[in-house]
Amino acid sequence: MEQKTFPVKGMHCASCASVIELTLKKVPGVESVEANYGTEKAKIAFDAAKISPEKLSKAIEPLGYSLILGDKMGMPARHSHDHGGGGSEDEHAAHLGLSQSKEDKLRELEDMRGKLRVALPLALFSIAVMIWEVLIQFGVVSSMNVIVEEVIHHVLPLFATVTLFIVGKPYLLGFKRFLRYGKANMDSLIGIGTLTAYLYSVGVIALEETLRPFIDVSHVYFDVTIVVIAFVSLGKYLEAKSKLKTGDAIEKLLNLQAKTALVLREGKEMEIPVEQVVVGDVVIVKPAGKIPVDGTVVEGESFVDESMISGEPMPVEKKMGSKVVAGTMNTSGSFTFTATGVGAETMLAHIIAMVEEAQGSKAPIQGLADRISAVFVPVVLVIAVLSLAVWLLLGMPALALMSFVGVLVIACPCALGLATPTAIIVGVGKGAKEGILIKDAATLEKLHKATVLVMDKTGTITQGRPQLVSLENMSQEKDDAMLSILAGLESKSEHPIAEAIVRAAKEKGSALPSVQRFEALKGKGVKAIVDGKEYVAGNAKLLRDLGVSHDTQQIEKQTKEGKTPVFLVAEGRLLAVAMVADEVKPESVQAVRELHKMGMKVIMLTGDDHNTAQYIAEQVGIDEVVAEASPEDKIKKIKELQAAGKIVVMAGDGVNDAPALAQADVGIAMATGTDVAIESAGITLLQGDLSKLVKAVKLSNITMRGIKQNLFWAFAYNIIGIPLAAGVLYPLFGWTLNPVFAGFAMALSSVSVVGNSLRIKSKTL
Ligand code: ADP
Ligand code: MG
Repeated sequence: MEQKTFPVKGMHCASCASVIELTLKKVPGVESVEANYGTEKAKIAFDAAKISPEKLSKAIEPLGYSLILGDKMGMPARHSHDHGGGGSEDEHAAHLGLSQSKEDKLRELEDMRGKLRVALPLALFSIAVMIWEVLIQFGVVSSMNVIVEEVIHHVLPLFATVTLFIVGKPYLLGFKRFLRYGKANMDSLIGIGTLTAYLYSVGVIALEETLRPFIDVSHVYFDVTIVVIAFVSLGKYLEAKSKLKTGDAIEKLLNLQAKTALVLREGKEMEIPVEQVVVGDVVIVKPAGKIPVDGTVVEGESFVDESMISGEPMPVEKKMGSKVVAGTMNTSGSFTFTATGVGAETMLAHIIAMVEEAQGSKAPIQGLADRISAVFVPVVLVIAVLSLAVWLLLGMPALALMSFVGVLVIACPCALGLATPTAIIVGVGKGAKEGILIKDAATLEKLHKATVLVMDKTGTITQGRPQLVSLENMSQEKDDAMLSILAGLESKSEHPIAEAIVRAAKEKGSALPSVQRFEALKGKGVKAIVDGKEYVAGNAKLLRDLGVSHDTQQIEKQTKEGKTPVFLVAEGRLLAVAMVADEVKPESVQAVRELHKMGMKVIMLTGDDHNTAQYIAEQVGIDEVVAEASPEDKIKKIKELQAAGKIVVMAGDGVNDAPALAQADVGIAMATGTDVAIESAGITLLQGDLSKLVKAVKLSNITMRGIKQNLFWAFAYNIIGIPLAAGVLYPLFGWTLNPVFAGFAMALSSVSVVGNSLRIKSKTL
């Protein structure tokens, strides 16, 4: 089974998504299909042995769609690269192993613009005539000159013919497909409506005398055809244009990619296209230069502006051994680094791929709108025919025709289909700009519903860079000897505490002894053999397990000041106690306050000592503390909260908290520096402190609010518009909806939904 995402050509409306899904699902060998109107892409799981992408595309071609097929990678075919600068962003996309079809989209927009240049003046002319006629009716102006009237009555049919058959061609094709395959989309509805008005009018002109006894032959509806097509096309154009804007976060990320790189090959500096850099190349970065690929600094020092990736404005210091990532910007120093990740393997490429994937994913809240869109078109057709029949039977042919056309034109699943995806695209894109990487739409939706936030202490609330503050030596040996044994043990551990001890030992200049049979004791400490003797180092829990006693009072005094003890034990004897302390991040206090304001309960979950944890919690204002928790205890606590019906967010450093992150409804990984396991969590915060977590929660709230507003308006619009157009209010107030207004309203509805989604972009987090 293979799963691929293809850009789809010809997706003009939400109902298209369901037509495509239904059609492709019936093709043998297709397992599942998810078409998204927001991104105009289809995610298809299919058996490559039974069916090829070409055949999949063929299956929907009669319906007016096609899959944009690429090479074997699932990428669209591309023109040869132009390395002489000025390369388009599509080329960057290709280089990064991604698919983009923006150029196609721009061509389509250009084509639409051309048609509008014809349709809009004709529509304005028709509207002017309409207004004039109304004014005459009310006696505001005197009646038209006979010659003018004649001319108008002759040009309108001509204008309508041009509009319908040239500008309105997609709608007529939609109608044709409906007749042939029984599958209708929005285009079909507009096609049926406008063609009906047109044919009726032509019929009236041709058979004026025959029809005179039955209907009002003085009234024809060419203007309806012209105006509806012009407005609907204008709406679609504006919609497509703003939809393009919703995706500009990806565009900005793509533009971060450098075009060339300065590398050292055969002892010479040379500038080569970034595509040609390979892993292992030595890359030179000049002052104010872009970092072209990922790598590790080998020489030189500088500060690098990583704000484009992490959203952090402060440039980050880089020296030997530091990691640098593609797309970031050097400041004034210069350095060289070895390339470790190029092309599709850079962090930037991963981020772009993740953002693209997330933007195309469906939020559960969309489910209802999707189900409605799927049945929308047939239901609207039935309503239109019913109102036609009812008014005809009641002897009102003009009202019958107008309500038939009006219902077909005003009904718009587009707004429904756009409501969720456009907001998700904008929300996810905004997140990416802030260094908040969201895995999928469902995560964003769940985050908004969460009421409990559980977080790890080390690295999340505190700096995650503890310092060794004291070492109490109870052995016969020298202090330095104890420190070096302890540091030796810890040198194999990745825990921040271990790093603190190793760093302190190195600063004192002590050489680390060699270590055998190292073992990490999960949630407790470490064990290993140093110089033939077995040592263990860890927390009080470990000490209890070993049955070793210690001066609890003396230790407690220090833990209550927020210090964490590390006990060094050998042969059942306590040899030394090291104290490490980790400072609270300055942002943590404010962040917890804001989370409280948003109604969240904040729980701290840590493997650290009770007193230490309590001290930190009090500083920050945490509601509940669970200390001395093993990784299993952490999962258990989350499960308990979930069993109590809570939606739980867990924020942790993503390394040793991975299982807890996975158990939580939303796992938020706080990445430190540029070491990111992007796909491990639902949300990854680059260079994260808690203030960024607050931003993530705000972002989900803003996005979900936008979606709800959109859905409300889309539903309300159809619920009010359709009955009004059907003439339901006619018997009561004499109200009907002129199809011309229906066309206008329909254009407005989808444009306003996209516009509302775009507003998310400018909200402050
Ligand atoms: P947390 O990330 O919440 O600190 P861990 O499960 O990683 O949770 O660790 C729990 C506790 O075990 C730590 O607070 C520390 O007291 C002890 N510990 C873990 N690893 C080490 C280590 N390498 N050296 C000393 N103590 C350790
Ligand atoms: Mg941890």
